[in-house]
Amino acid sequence: MKKIIFMLTTSLLLAACTGNQNKADTAAIECDLDLETFQFQVDRFADIEILRYPVLGFNSLSLQQKQLISFLSQAALEGRDILWDQHNRYNLTIRRVCEAIYENFMGNRTTEDWQNFETYLKQIWFHNGIHHGTSEEKIMPKFSREYFIATVRSVDPGRMPFRDGMAAQETLDVIIPVMFDPNVMSRRMNQTAGADLVATSAVNFYEGVTQKEVEDFYNAMKNPNDPTPVSFGLNSKVVKVDGVITEQVWKVGGMYDRAITRIVNWLEQAAEVAENNVQKDVINTLIEYYRTGSLKTFDEYSIKWVSDLDSRIDFLNGFIEVYTDPLGMKGTWESLVNFKSTEASKRTAIISDNVQWFEDNAPIDDRFKKDEVVGVSAKVVTVAQLGGDLFPSTAIGINLPNSNWIRRDHGSKSVTMDNIMLAYTKASESNGFAEEFMWNEEVIERSKKYGGLTDLLHVDLHETIGHGSGKLLPGTDVDALRAYGSPLEEARADLMSLYFMADPKMVELELLPHADAHKAQYYRYIMNGAITQLTRVQLGRDIEQAHMRGRALIANWVLNKGKEDNVVELVVRDGKTFVVVNNYEKLRTLFGQLLTEVQRIKSEGDFEAGKNLMETYGVKVDRKLHEEILTRHTALNLAISRGFVNPTYRLVTDANGNVTDVTISYDEDFKTQQLRYSMQFSVLPLMN
Ligand code: ZN
Repeated sequence: MKKIIFMLTTSLLLAACTGNQNKADTAAIECDLDLETFQFQVDRFADIEILRYPVLGFNSLSLQQKQLISFLSQAALEGRDILWDQHNRYNLTIRRVCEAIYENFMGNRTTEDWQNFETYLKQIWFHNGIHHGTSEEKIMPKFSREYFIATVRSVDPGRMPFRDGMAAQETLDVIIPVMFDPNVMSRRMNQTAGADLVATSAVNFYEGVTQKEVEDFYNAMKNPNDPTPVSFGLNSKVVKVDGVITEQVWKVGGMYDRAITRIVNWLEQAAEVAENNVQKDVINTLIEYYRTGSLKTFDEYSIKWVSDLDSRIDFLNGFIEVYTDPLGMKGTWESLVNFKSTEASKRTAIISDNVQWFEDNAPIDDRFKKDEVVGVSAKVVTVAQLGGDLFPSTAIGINLPNSNWIRRDHGSKSVTMDNIMLAYTKASESNGFAEEFMWNEEVIERSKKYGGLTDLLHVDLHETIGHGSGKLLPGTDVDALRAYGSPLEEARADLMSLYFMADPKMVELELLPHADAHKAQYYRYIMNGAITQLTRVQLGRDIEQAHMRGRALIANWVLNKGKEDNVVELVVRDGKTFVVVNNYEKLRTLFGQLLTEVQRIKSEGDFEAGKNLMETYGVKVDRKLHEEILTRHTALNLAISRGFVNPTYRLVTDANGNVTDVTISYDEDFKTQQLRYSMQFSVLPLMN
């Protein structure tokens, strides 16, 4: 439930390390790359742009740290196919057939059909499957099924990934409706109120069971009096065998055995070069969890992970986020390898040191406040590798673990990914977005001046005092809000950030340079939530993604409540809709009011109120406005989604086989990297 995705595409002014000349020592160490010549842009297709992120500071790490990063990076890539299979059971087959065509097709590669085929393959690479990662809709090929069949037939069958005992025709019979029929597996995750969310979702978390059966199955396991429950259902698929509902656990020897075994092998090598014993213990506990599948061991691992604050290098590897499960239980596989950016972490250290002050002064009922906020640790990191659900498209911040009681008793770790944000900023400089969507010069200028800084701060605040704050009343079921839980939690975290960003405390703590700076964030936030994020929604569709629902809820709610006092409004000028903020002070009050209510809903588990709030403000889209925004945005010809290629690490050895260095290179383009990953990291059977 705890990640944030970067949405704004205005040009930002971000303090890259080049702007840090007076701190020559640190700057020199952190800046081992020439950012002026670094190629941030890699590829552009459909509505997608692929970027590169620079791993600033890698060369200043010790040899042991570099080796650790390279082993963890291998482990980060081994789980790629797990995620593909989790998203849909036909994904791996479709991808492998398409890749075989792409590599072996001897026909004409200049036709429109071929171009459309290539775009489709890149799209499914980007979304880790045949469904769109934001809208959840199936990606419909722009080439015909006849063209596809003819292309498959033209390729040497020996080069096609057809399974033993399953002829080409049989494979095609299975995948063609899945690819081309709009009614077959049309949505990866369905959240439509009233539907059987399990039966109508194409994710591969359930098979042959109804939503009711799954809910009964897990409710029977839950003990409402257990103060430290495991995350039920996090690492398994639910199936019915001979009429009995059972879990297929994702572990060594279980489902996804081959990929998980390889992950474990790399983790074992990583443990050998761990920076210290605490980190070694974290890695070994994770290995133990992968071997046993025990969710109790996963909790032990999470507690050790959240307590490891001294290691420079850190990583995630496992079944973590539950966004893609319509019932919010099943973790998609993801990985992140990073190391602490010492200079930038000073910013988040200030927030962490004051976290109790924020809790005490939050506009939420005292009954829902934590008496003592436990160890919200915040740091700014440099990303070294992305994997699974964080690749190619990534969050820019994370706050984990997700387990409520671990967060309550042991705190959480909050991470902001500076080099990812830097890449976004560099790729967005002067693309015309601000000029098109912002109301006037004053707003644009303020955004240029403070937008980048307040974006970074917003992520920090969202993760630390946002997700880190508040508590459930005793006895409240953590899953009480069901599908509304994730978007309401994202809204709550955003509201904490927005409310405090305007507090004089921000300037006092030197987190913001000027009392006006927060206005840049306020304007950008409402513009994004009410208007510009609609560029990521298909015309005629609802808003689906949790963070987007949270933002829409906040923006539309304040626009509605702010009418009366003329606080904030949508104004149409020359047929174009703009956000106009008339009173920033009262806007802050409104954010505070909504925060009070959202916190109450969460703490009490008030499903009806949560549903009502979300369905009223966070889901539906005004069609006329939507059409207008899409037209304006299309005219700018900007990408809507952005993702990355990873750097490659190579061990350098001497004549005796001893590792003498680890090099980093940035030379792969998107398709080369995806094809290489498919070759190197594909070990799972087709159609699990
Ligand atoms: Zn979040």
